[in-house]
Amino acid sequence: MTTISPEVVRKVVAEVVAEVVSRSAATTPVSDGVFPDMDSAITAADLAWRRYLDCSMKDRARFVKAIRDVALLPENLEYMARGCVEQTGMGNVPDKIAKNRAAAELTPGTEDLTTEAWSGDDGLTTIEISPFGVIGAITPTTNPTETIINNAIGMLAAGNSVVFSPHPRATEISQWLVRKINEALAAAGAPPNLVVTVTEPSIENTNAMMAHKLVRLLVATGGPGIVKAVLSSGKKAIGAGAGNPPALVDATANIEKAAKDIVAGASFDNNLPCTSEKEVLAVASITDLLKFEMLKHGAYELRDAADIAKLEALVVDGRHPVTEWVGKDACVILKAIGIEPPAGVKLIIAEVPFEHPFVRVELMMPVLPIVRVKDVEEGMDLAVIAEHGNRHTAMMHSSDVNALTKMAKRIQTTIFVKNGPSYAGIGIGGEGYCTFTIAGPTGEGLTSARSFARRRRCVLVGGLNVR
Ligand code: NAD
Repeated sequence: MTTISPEVVRKVVAEVVAEVVSRSAATTPVSDGVFPDMDSAITAADLAWRRYLDCSMKDRARFVKAIRDVALLPENLEYMARGCVEQTGMGNVPDKIAKNRAAAELTPGTEDLTTEAWSGDDGLTTIEISPFGVIGAITPTTNPTETIINNAIGMLAAGNSVVFSPHPRATEISQWLVRKINEALAAAGAPPNLVVTVTEPSIENTNAMMAHKLVRLLVATGGPGIVKAVLSSGKKAIGAGAGNPPALVDATANIEKAAKDIVAGASFDNNLPCTSEKEVLAVASITDLLKFEMLKHGAYELRDAADIAKLEALVVDGRHPVTEWVGKDACVILKAIGIEPPAGVKLIIAEVPFEHPFVRVELMMPVLPIVRVKDVEEGMDLAVIAEHGNRHTAMMHSSDVNALTKMAKRIQTTIFVKNGPSYAGIGIGGEGYCTFTIAGPTGEGLTSARSFARRRRCVLVGGLNVR
């Protein structure tokens, strides 16, 4: 009888195992990150996060770069912008391209995570910025892909995995992006399922996500309903809620520039950004000049009270905008009230009293009310009221440093833009990084990787101090 040595047996077994593993790798499809239900999505994201713990910071930086690169491919920027406009029926393609580009280029990555250290006779202590694990992120219909790009970069840079619960009206384009991100991450060698979502986003699925025990942090970008829901969940939550940003213009401002900036900011992506100018408070002595200059830059003024009333009946429903008109082109809105717009119109303006619903309601469409105020003091008082205490965003056009300072102190917004369009506040044409999750209510402000992380102390006793 021939005997086989243990060496040979070991070799044959190793070869067979290697063959089985390589065949199964070739036949197992790469996950596209889209799961049939929340439980399977979250379970996969949790496993991904555990594997991610073994990756180096260089790996993380490479994965973040892969997300940036795939989002920035010209054909993908174009596809996302068109898809968002077609599926949500809101916004415009060139501005969506600019927003997605800003999210991909200007969202901070791993460089945002800095270590604090103490060293002395007793040794060395560090505070390191560490991941939460699986994050549940809820994204809005107004910036669907921008928020996914922005959140995915920041959350993965901080070492987390993320489950997205997109707005149901932006399902298809959000899933398309999650699939693209998964392809790019797989090609970069990342563990599968760091970024996942579900086939049918819904309020029920969002609720299941908020209640799931493996989700450690909730990040809600949206209106007051969802911010309240995450803050009532019993979990650590970041709430990025509604705004109603005022723009105050005083008599010392460069009026021509203020007019140009306000039209540019308030018409950007048809006024969808939560940061966009939603009402103007103009000191009486310059109001006519301001309106005159705005008309030169693409504004159309409704002067007839009957037209203003018609527009109000069309776009305001009590305390809310009529969804059908949110993010629509100014020309489409004008036509709906029977006005044939001149070429190049991108913003509708109307002088109204402060109590008008156009001022109170967060319209999110290119309809901008202008309120005449007697002086800058009254303008500040009314701006604070119009902002509703959201502490979100405000603009002021002035060359009076004292007035600018006073307004900033009084209004307490997370973003205060001086002498520029609102989008300068999120890094588009203004200094500073970009975010699409501005957490006023919970205080993280303009979120970045470090907002999605825990501070952990590591203490080494009696060593490594070289002082
Ligand atoms: P929205 O509140 O209708 O929806 C936001 C998300 O929350 C969606 O995914 C939606 O499906 C979900 N959602 C809403 N209510 C829910 C509930 N009760 N339970 C479970 N899920 C719920 O907002 P929207 O229309 O998509 O976006 C516009 C709003 O978001 C505006 O108020 C705007 O100011 C705000 N926003 C804020 C920021 C910010 O960074 N602060 C950014 C973008 C938008």
